[in-house]
Amino acid sequence: MIDTHAHLAMVDRDGVGYAGGVPGVLQRARDAGLRHIICIGAGGELAEVQAALDVAKQNQGVSAICGLHPHDAARLLAQDPQADPLWQGIVQACSAAEVVAVGETGLDYHYDLSPRSQQRLVFERHVALARELGKPLCIHTREAEAETVEVLEMAAQHGVGGVIHCFSGSAWLARQCLDLGFYLSIPGIVTFKNAGDLPEVVAFAPVDRLLVETDSPFLAPIPYRGKRNEPAYVVKTLEQVARIRGISPVEMALVTTENAVRLFGPRLRTQLTGED
Ligand SMILES: [Zn+2]
Ligand SMILES: [Zn+2]
Repeated sequence: MIDTHAHLAMVDRDGVGYAGGVPGVLQRARDAGLRHIICIGAGGELAEVQAALDVAKQNQGVSAICGLHPHDAARLLAQDPQADPLWQGIVQACSAAEVVAVGETGLDYHYDLSPRSQQRLVFERHVALARELGKPLCIHTREAEAETVEVLEMAAQHGVGGVIHCFSGSAWLARQCLDLGFYLSIPGIVTFKNAGDLPEVVAFAPVDRLLVETDSPFLAPIPYRGKRNEPAYVVKTLEQVARIRGISPVEMALVTTENAVRLFGPRLRTQLTGED
C-alpha cells in the first residue's frame, strides 16, 4: 500500500503533533503494511517545503511533492511571482530526485483564502513548472470545477498529467479529469455515510486510475473519524474502495500501488523493488 498524500512536515499550522513525531508515524505505517508515503510540502513557507524534502531524503520509503497550496497563493508577489524567493525555492525543491510531483496546486473557492485570480495564476505557473521538469501535477480543487477543468485541459494539451488529490468533487468533474488522463486519489471521505458522489466515482472510474491517500493529519476515515489522521489509516480507505469495486483488499492494494508507480515514476519503482 502507498499513501499518496500525507502532510508530515507542516510547520505553519500549529504543528502537526503526530505521536512519536515522524519516526512514530513511519513505524506505524510500516506495521500497517505501507511500503511508501508521499509527503507534501506546500504550506506557503519555504521551511515547510524544505522539511518535506528532508523527510524524503532521510527516510527510505518516503518521497515528496512540493509546491504552493492555493490557500497560500497570495504569499507570492502578485506582480512577478517568478522573482519571488519562495517560488525560486519551490522550483529548486521540485528539481530534486526525491520530489515525484509538483503541488499541491489548484483552486479552492470554498475557503477563498487567496484571491481567485492569484490562485489561477499560481496554478498555471505550477503547470508550466511540471511541464519543464517532466513531472506530474498534484491538484487540489474545491468548488471550482469548471475553472479547474479549463486549466487541466491546457495542461493535458502540453502533455502534463497528474492526480486530483483528495477527490471529493462531482461525478461530472471525475469524468472530465479521467477523460484528460488524470488519476483520482480517493480519501477517507469514501468511508463516511455522506460521501457525496464519491462511491459512484469509485465504481465507474477505470481501476487503473485510482489511488488512495489519507491527506493526514486531516479527514481520518471511519472508525478514526475526528481523530488526527495518519498514513497507517489508509488501510480503511483502501478496504472501502475494494468493497465498492468488489475485489479483495490485497488485489486493490496491488493495483493502486502499480498505479502510483506508473504515475510517479522511477523513484517509487526503485524503492519498491530495490532495483536501480
Ligand atoms: Zn489539498
Ligand atoms: Zn494536502
